[in-house]
Amino acid sequence: MIYDSIINIRGIGPKTQKILNSIGISTIEDMLYFFPRDYKDKSSIKKLTDLEYGKKQAFIAKVLNGIREHTYYKGGRTYRIIKAAVTDGTATAYCVWFNQAYIKRVLVPGRWYRFYGKVVLNRGSLEINSPEFEIMSKKGAAEGLIEPVYPAVGTLTSPRIANIIKEILNKYRCDISDFMPPDLLRRHNLPDLAFALKNIHLPSDHRSREAAFRRLVFDELFILQLGLSLVKGSCGRPGSGIPFKLDKDFLTGILGRLPFELTDAQKQVMREIWADMKSDTPMNRLIQGDVGSGKTVVAVLCMLIAVNNGYQSALMAPTEILARQHYETVTQMTAGMGINTDLLTGSLTSTQREQLLEQLIKGQIDILVGTHAIIQEGVEFKRLGLIITDEQHRFGVRQRAIFAGKGQNPDVLVMSATPIPRTLAFILHGDLDISTIRQLPPGRKEVKTYVIDMNDYQRLVGFMKHEIKKGRQVYVVCPLIEASSQLDVLSVNDVYDMLTEDPFFDGITAVLHGRLSNSEKQNIMDRFTDNKLKVLISTTVIEVGVNVPNATLMVVFNAERFGLAQLHQLRGRIGRGSHASSCVLVSGVSAGEAISRLKILERYSDGFKISEMDLKLRGPGDFLGTRQHGLPDLKIADLIRDMEYIPVIRREVEKFLKDPAKNYGNKLRLMIRQVKKMFGQDFQYISIN
Ligand code: ADP
Ligand code: MG
Repeated sequence: MIYDSIINIRGIGPKTQKILNSIGISTIEDMLYFFPRDYKDKSSIKKLTDLEYGKKQAFIAKVLNGIREHTYYKGGRTYRIIKAAVTDGTATAYCVWFNQAYIKRVLVPGRWYRFYGKVVLNRGSLEINSPEFEIMSKKGAAEGLIEPVYPAVGTLTSPRIANIIKEILNKYRCDISDFMPPDLLRRHNLPDLAFALKNIHLPSDHRSREAAFRRLVFDELFILQLGLSLVKGSCGRPGSGIPFKLDKDFLTGILGRLPFELTDAQKQVMREIWADMKSDTPMNRLIQGDVGSGKTVVAVLCMLIAVNNGYQSALMAPTEILARQHYETVTQMTAGMGINTDLLTGSLTSTQREQLLEQLIKGQIDILVGTHAIIQEGVEFKRLGLIITDEQHRFGVRQRAIFAGKGQNPDVLVMSATPIPRTLAFILHGDLDISTIRQLPPGRKEVKTYVIDMNDYQRLVGFMKHEIKKGRQVYVVCPLIEASSQLDVLSVNDVYDMLTEDPFFDGITAVLHGRLSNSEKQNIMDRFTDNKLKVLISTTVIEVGVNVPNATLMVVFNAERFGLAQLHQLRGRIGRGSHASSCVLVSGVSAGEAISRLKILERYSDGFKISEMDLKLRGPGDFLGTRQHGLPDLKIADLIRDMEYIPVIRREVEKFLKDPAKNYGNKLRLMIRQVKKMFGQDFQYISIN
C-alpha cells in the first residue's frame, strides 16, 4: 500500500526515516510527492560544434589517446587535474576533472561515451568541467536520459533519493489509484496519475515530463480550490443567513454625522455590501482598497446597520495598535448614539475580560473590536450578525472560519490593503466576492518619494532636522530590532544610537517594536500622537494603524529588504494632514536591481499598480507569504505562473460541488483524502454536504 510507512522500502532504515520525517515525508505516497527541483537532460545530444558555452549539455564522443595528468601546488595543497581530449568528428574538446585521479583508470581511449557537463571556453579551447560520463551501449535507449535532481535532505543526496523513488515506482506503481475521473482528465488532455508520478521522477522523454507536470499542477490547484470552496460552502448556503433591513432614516442620520461625504467608490462598495446584507445568503465579501482609501469607514457603517437590526457585530484586527485605533474610530463615529462598543485584546486583566465576556453574551455590547483574542474559546456573543476582519492577508482560512462560528451564519466582510490580481484573489480568498475601492478621498497630498543610499546619510539627517524644526514629526523604520552579526542591516537600536549621538535628537526620539509590552507601546504611541516625541524609530509594527497627520516624513532604512507593497503601506502613514510629505527609502546597496525595484515607488503611487509589479518581481511565495494567507504550501503549482489554469479549475470545482457523489462516484473518497492531506489540521473546518 502506498499509504504505508516509508520504512517498508528496501534501504530505508530508522535513520533515513527520521530524516525524511523531518521534512514531512512519512508514507510511501509522500515520497512520491517529493518532486525533483530540476533535471539533467542527457537526452538531447549535441554535436561538439553546436555546444553552447555556460550550459550543461550532453554529447557523445570518443576519447583520444594520451589522457594527461597535471599536478600543481597552490596554498599548500596539491591539485591533480585529469585532462582528456575527446572528439565526435565535428570538433575536439577537453574534458577536465579536478582531484578525481580514478578517472584515468576508468576512461578508456578509443571508446565512445556519453558525456554531460558544463561547457566553457578556456583559452580558446572547448572545455567541459568534471563531466559525468557513461559508456555508450549499442542500443542507446532513451529511458533514464532525463535524470531527476532532488534537493538534498540532510545527509540524503540527490542520487540516493532518486534510488529510493525508483524502487518505489518499481514496486508500487500499480497501487497508485487516480482520484480524478477519466472524463475530466480527457476534457483537459491530462494523463493518469500513475503516469504522471512516474514521469515527473523518471521521464521517458520531454513530452511525458511536461504532461506529468501539467497533470500534477492541475491536481494541486484543483485540490486547493476545492478545499477553499468547501470552507466557504459550509457557511454560505442560501436561506441560512440573516436578511438585514435598512432603515433609510437611520442611514441618512449616520451619514450626516460624518465630517465628510463618502467618495463615489465608497458609495458603490456600500451598495454591493448592502445587496449582500439584505439577502438571506450569508455575505462573504472582500473589500480591497489602497491604504487610506476609506475602508474602515465603510466597515463601521455596516456594523451600525447590523446593530440597528438588533444584532451584534465584531471587528478583528491583526495588531493591538490597529485594534485600538479602530476602537477609537468606532467610538468617535457613534458618540451619543447609545451604542455600546468595547475592546477585547490580550492585555485586559482577567477581571476585565470576564466582565466583558459577560456583557457580550448578555448582548450588552453592540460592537466588539479586538485582536485575535476575539476568536479565542470562551468568547461568546448573544446575537452576532456581522463579522469583519481587517488586513485579511494576515489571517488564515481557519481563523476566518472560527470567527464566523461565533455566530449563526453571520455576514462576513474582510478588508485588505494588499490588492492582488483578480484571478489570484479568487484562489486566495476562496469564493469571496470582491469589492474594490479605487479612489482616495479628496484632498490627499501626494507623498514625494526618494531613493537614496547611505552616502547621503548626513543630508538625510539635515532634512529630518529641517522637518522637526518646522514642527513636523518623523517615522523611521528598520528591518530589525537588534544588531545582527550575520546581516549587514541596520537595526532599530543602531539607528537610535546613530541619531542620538547628535544632542538635537536626544529626548525627542523613541524606539517602538514588537518586543515591548503593550503598555510601553501604547505609552510611546500616545506621546508621539501628542507631538511630545518627534522621531519614532520602529520595526514594521507601525505598518498598519497609526494615524498621526502631523507626521510628514517617513524614512526606511535597508528599504531593499522590504516588499514594494509593504513599503507602499508604510508610506500610507504619511501625507494624512495638510502638509507636504516625503518618504525617503534608504537602500543598503548603492546599485543594481534593488535600486531599480525601489525606484518603482518614486514613480508610482497607485497601490494596485505597485502590488502587481511587486508580485511579478518577487513571485507569489514571497509576495503573499502563503502561510500568512492560511494557504497550504504548494509543491509544484505556482499561483502566478499557472494563473491561466485557475478559471478552468474553478469551473471544474463548481461542477464537482453541484453533486460530488454523482460526478465523482467512488473517486470521492480519494479526492477528499487529498483535500485532507493538503489542508492538514485546518481540514476540521471544512465540511462536505
Ligand atoms: P483605510 O481603512 O482604507 O486605510 P480609513 O477608513 O482609515 O482608510 O480612512 C483613512 C482616513 O481618511 C481616515 O482619517 C478617514 O476619516 C478619512 N476618510 C475616509 N473616507 C473619507 C472621505 N470620503 N472623505 C474624506 N476623508 C475620508
Ligand atoms: Mg445577509
